[in-house]
Amino acid sequence: MSKFHLINDSSDNKVQGLYLFHCPGCRNAHPVHTITPSANGSKWDFNGDVDKPTISPSLLCNKHWPECRCHSFIKDGMIQFLSDCWHNLKNQTVEIPDWDEV
Ligand SMILES: [Zn+2]
Repeated sequence: MSKFHLINDSSDNKVQGLYLFHCPGCRNAHPVHTITPSANGSKWDFNGDVDKPTISPSLLCNKHWPECRCHSFIKDGMIQFLSDCWHNLKNQTVEIPDWDEV
């Protein structure tokens, strides 16, 4: 089962390689841009395996808002939360849930 969910924007194909995954810390979906950069220019290297995704560099969401900041490394389908996360999974490494099971 896949942990990364590819967003197909068939309407205009302007955004390619955009994936979503469920963050177990935020209980929310985070976007990962692997081909077309995000609005602020971010783009990640992705191993192409939606079942055991690895991306680099680290994923940092809501950098300027500590109350909802989420900072992690994703490797082999596991997500390692760093100490500056807002949620209580900080400093822990957990498996990313399957997209279809959430
Ligand atoms: Zn998160």
